[in-house]
Amino acid sequence: MIPSMPPREGQLGFLYLPPFRIQGISVAGEQTVIQVPELDLCFDMGQCTRASLSAPTIALSHCHMDHLGGLPYWFSQRQFQKIGTGRCVCHPRAAEPLRAMMRAWIDLELQRTPHEIIALEPDSDFELKNNLFLRAIETSHTAPSLGFVVIERRSKLKDEFHDLPQDRLRDLKQQGVEITRTIEIPLVAYTGDTEPGPFLFRDEFANAKVIISECTFFESEHRSRAKIGKHLHVNDLSSLLQVWKAEYVVLTHISRRTAIPFARECVTTMDGGAHAHRVHLLMDFRTNKQRYERQVAEAEDRAELPQKSVVERDVEIHETNG
Ligand SMILES: [Zn+2]
Ligand SMILES: [Zn+2]
Repeated sequence: MIPSMPPREGQLGFLYLPPFRIQGISVAGEQTVIQVPELDLCFDMGQCTRASLSAPTIALSHCHMDHLGGLPYWFSQRQFQKIGTGRCVCHPRAAEPLRAMMRAWIDLELQRTPHEIIALEPDSDFELKNNLFLRAIETSHTAPSLGFVVIERRSKLKDEFHDLPQDRLRDLKQQGVEITRTIEIPLVAYTGDTEPGPFLFRDEFANAKVIISECTFFESEHRSRAKIGKHLHVNDLSSLLQVWKAEYVVLTHISRRTAIPFARECVTTMDGGAHAHRVHLLMDFRTNKQRYERQVAEAEDRAELPQKSVVERDVEIHETNG
């Protein structure tokens, strides 16, 4: 009897939630790495996937191994492939132990891997790129933990100046009058591992366009597990989904014990199916693939329309000429 081949592993979950791609792997206790290429950002680094190397920044929610295990390798691969020093934004209590971990690697490898570890205080912002900021929000888990929200800052003309002509506005600006105010638009929020708490109802979460949320447990007999491990249970989601206005909610960190079709069933029937259209499971490969194929087909249909009209115009020209 010939032994069977080992199972293929490591397929990335993928969702295109315009304008963002959410891609990565997330299974409770095993690994979580979730990349948003459009933001040049990766949430957590439980395993260093090839795709995640292109993100220059990791927002590390907490230091459980399933969220952190790939970090030194990620720093090292960024260096090996000469794509620049990676940076990791983390809870202030995690920063020094992480630096110590990287120092230990120097003793092991007898070479220093360039890395940048940035402690981000809860309620403060870190600039990712022009007008895009990463805000840390303290959450509650069995290790010091942060959730994150990526916020876009836009300056808007103050209401009282709306009716003024351009040259008058220019004059005011030259006189040093502050004619604009800054507004904040929360784009993508990430809960990390956490138990439910008031922090998840904050404006940044309530108004985010996309929320990536952990939801570790679904079975009703797993409620006590969720409580002990300080995780979210699907029953906690209902009240959150009533407050979260997000167009898309992506559930991650689902326990291996839970069958994906059962988890899907739970979220599509919750609150009479009220959230079925906007809640997705990152690791639901089948449903997500079908959804993506629909998106591709719809995009192709849209692209065909102008071509058709060109053909129609040609026919018209031909007819008038003929
Ligand atoms: Zn975890
Ligand atoms: Zn954890």
